Amino acid sequence: MDRNDIINQLSQYFKVEELVCDHIYARWGEASWQFLDTMFLHCLLLLRRDIIGRPMKCNNHKLKIHQRGVRCNMCEIVRSKGRAYMSAHVLGKAGDFSIEGMTAEAARQRIKLLPAAFPCQVRIEGGVTWLHIDVLPQHGITQKVYEFTA
Ligand SMILES: [Zn+2]
Ligand SMILES: [Zn+2]
Repeated sequence: MDRNDIINQLSQYFKVEELVCDHIYARWGEASWQFLDTMFLHCLLLLRRDIIGRPMKCNNHKLKIHQRGVRCNMCEIVRSKGRAYMSAHVLGKAGDFSIEGMTAEAARQRIKLLPAAFPCQVRIEGGVTWLHIDVLPQHGITQKVYEFTA
């Protein structure tokens, strides 16, 4: 699948403003897709459409939920760091999701059972009440689905 096909299909499930912070969307609007990694978008499409099959919520700027997708230098989580910060969220490779009718833990269990469903390595964050998923190819990690704790 090429990038435009992925974005076209993913647009049935997500608006780009949900996947980036309010600062990015205010400045770039629909062009904000350009900050999202192709492999991340592909994994998110497969996750939403085939693996989870339920509505997944990321940002909701009206509810002041801004930092669950791509984060920029103006975002509080980034600004507040007194050290280098290279989260997959600033690299356009991550999102934090709430799933309608499914706990984050249930979603993680399902993802761990289906490593072959993904076209690349994925990471999930364990022990949190949201589903964090990213495609950072963490150095030294060979597992297809890797659960990390922050
Ligand atoms: Zn921002
Ligand atoms: Zn996250």
